[in-house]
Amino acid sequence: MSKSINTILLQEEFSHADLVALLNAQGQDKTAIYTRSAEIKKQYIGNKVYFRGLVELSNICSKNCLYCGIRSGNPKPGRYMVTEDEVLEAASFALENGYGSMVLQSGERCDEKFAKTVSDLLKKIKELSGGKLGITLSMGEQTEDTYREWFANGAHRYLIRIETSDRELYYRIHPKDKKHDFDIRINALKLLREIGYNVGSGVMIGLPFQTIEHLAGDLLFLKQLDVDMVGMGPFIEHEDTPLYEFRDSLWPKKDRFDVSLKMVALLRIMMKDINIAATTAMQAIDKQGREKALKVGANIIMPNLTPLKYREDYLLYEDKPCLDEDASQCRNCLEARIHMAGDEIGFNEWGDSAHFAKRTSSSKLD
Ligand code: SAM
Ligand code: SF4
Repeated sequence: MSKSINTILLQEEFSHADLVALLNAQGQDKTAIYTRSAEIKKQYIGNKVYFRGLVELSNICSKNCLYCGIRSGNPKPGRYMVTEDEVLEAASFALENGYGSMVLQSGERCDEKFAKTVSDLLKKIKELSGGKLGITLSMGEQTEDTYREWFANGAHRYLIRIETSDRELYYRIHPKDKKHDFDIRINALKLLREIGYNVGSGVMIGLPFQTIEHLAGDLLFLKQLDVDMVGMGPFIEHEDTPLYEFRDSLWPKKDRFDVSLKMVALLRIMMKDINIAATTAMQAIDKQGREKALKVGANIIMPNLTPLKYREDYLLYEDKPCLDEDASQCRNCLEARIHMAGDEIGFNEWGDSAHFAKRTSSSKLD
């Protein structure tokens, strides 16, 4: 006889089969998962939500991921790089408004000029804020030297989604060439951890060819990797990408959202003290998507501080929200949403995960 959801929820560890059952749960069983994840969030994280002011630094990318609207093979977006002054203006806004941290995200570029530009920006943000602003980078796969240089210049968190932990599926959503190598991506995560970063990863949910079994594997992968933070959300199609061809075989958007919410809740149950982002892609499907994610376990929000003139050119997927809301409108809207979700904002704090603090202090004792 198969185990009930309530029995599974009492366990400390979940097998792949348990996670498949949990991801398929509906009705009262689904409510039981959300009740449990909300309890765990309250106990281990509290009700503080941390802001990371996001700057989408550049849409210039040397890669050609089959799902992404800014892939190098898409001629439509005007390619841009936010200027240093604009980044520093965003940093000042973040500082003045009590955001503890910033995230700099961009397409993947591995040339020396880019590495130096990022290093200079890191130094200037640190200088401008007197070291107060924490900095997360999300710039894809880089050499070990570049990761070290950026760490030395003040970046202390790095987010690199594995996108899917299933090797076969990975190669169905990426070109099969040396630039899109599953093992290099996994190795990047290991390097970042060795260097001393808070390491984040994540996956897309509802990809073509993806099954609930794959997603159960993703949860086990994130747990095994012992990540400090996770950003994951629904896959959303973009008409100028090769995966658009499969749009009719995708799960309905509502289901992709629903499963994404369950993934957040289950990850919170499995990894009690990590940081989990309520991602923009969740809001793209459901207007209250981020609040719903906060309720079931997420604790990080990334308000967009990218200057408005660049936003139309950073369209990773269709219906990306907040294209016309500047930083202060975005701030007001978010504060209201967070209070609605019963949380409060952790102003002026970096908000690194307790998980990172624990694993690094225990390794110091070894
Ligand atoms: N270039 C870096 C990288 O790939 O790691 C960082 C920027 S990339 C745009 C950030 C994330 O956007 C990717 O890791 C991917 O998960 C997400 N993304 C791209 N296309 C998407 C889509 N169509 N739907 C949902 N998320 C998408
Ligand atoms: Fe480039 Fe990242 Fe988009 Fe891939 S997901 S095409 S690496 S920006």
